[in-house]
Amino acid sequence: MAKDYYKILGIDKNASDEEVKKAFRKLAHQHHPDKSGGNEAKFKELNEAYQVLGNKEKRAQYNQFGQTFDGGSPPAGGFRWEDVAGVGGFPGGARWNVNMGGDMGDIFETIFDQFTGGATVRRKRSRGSDIELEAKLSLEEAFHGVGRQASVRTHVSCMACGGAGYDKARGVATCGVCHGTGSVAREVRTIFGSIPHRVACTDCEGSGEKPNAPCTHCKGTGRISGMREVTVSIPVGIEDGQVVKLVGQGEAGERGEASGDLYVAVRVAPHGRFARHGEDLHTNVEVKLGDILRERPVRIVGVDGEMLEVAVPGGHRLENPVRVSGKGMSRFGSPKHRGDLLISLSVRTPKHLSTKAKRLLEELEGEM
Ligand SMILES: [Zn+2]
Ligand SMILES: [Zn+2]
Repeated sequence: MAKDYYKILGIDKNASDEEVKKAFRKLAHQHHPDKSGGNEAKFKELNEAYQVLGNKEKRAQYNQFGQTFDGGSPPAGGFRWEDVAGVGGFPGGARWNVNMGGDMGDIFETIFDQFTGGATVRRKRSRGSDIELEAKLSLEEAFHGVGRQASVRTHVSCMACGGAGYDKARGVATCGVCHGTGSVAREVRTIFGSIPHRVACTDCEGSGEKPNAPCTHCKGTGRISGMREVTVSIPVGIEDGQVVKLVGQGEAGERGEASGDLYVAVRVAPHGRFARHGEDLHTNVEVKLGDILRERPVRIVGVDGEMLEVAVPGGHRLENPVRVSGKGMSRFGSPKHRGDLLISLSVRTPKHLSTKAKRLLEELEGEM
């Protein structure tokens, strides 16, 4: 059966290119084999799916034929539909709409993996996982930039052994099981018979050496469960959805391996008065017709708390916002630069006009 690449990426058949990319990144991040809890097989499958769905041409082929093929040549494995089933060309010219090649490819790949995972195989100690946090900000906080603190329960480096997992003063000895090679011989049964093969030594986890005095505090892992105090400084002008990365602030790695990273996803709450468009802020102010006609300045408190008096020049068209330069949002990472503030003026017409008011307006019209 052909693999369902859409299902693998967990997306809809109508997903946009951006959605395909997003889904792949998220899942690849989650299943990356270098991470604890990572899954190499799943990661490969994700890659395979993305190779196809992330490419316009291949995706179109896949949608039409259920698989891809380059330049009309048969798929890997060299099987032709005619050879297998004795059937001629497929309607629409899809002669290679057969998945034999793909399945054979999987078998070859499995064997190939076993060969390549030969004498030098060493099981990697795992790097710490990444930690993801969310920080909720007001627009004002995003304007000024803000510090955030959080306590995260995770693995932290073992204080007793400094993360090494053993007493460094007492050193390590060569592993007696693999004699320091880190791997041991195994037979792997394949459809071609048994193949000699080397796998990582379980006794020393492929390192070839064993500590003389494993740390009892962390049971040799080099890390313990604990709280990590995290301080994040979120830069000025940050936008909703941006992510701040703190390298090495994630979970501690095993026995001195690198720590994971910390990702802080920033959410900026919608504001009651301002809508943000990049570096500009938009707002709406209700004004009295008389005030506008008499060119009285519009008073408004800016996002930074400053009281602004904005002049509305004569001849202004009400459908256009009034632009106040340099009073908008701070530019990302650059507090000295600000976008503009755009003020839309709305005028409410009076519900009732007295006879006198009507007469005065008529007089006014004559004056204007
Ligand atoms: Zn060993
Ligand atoms: Zn320890």
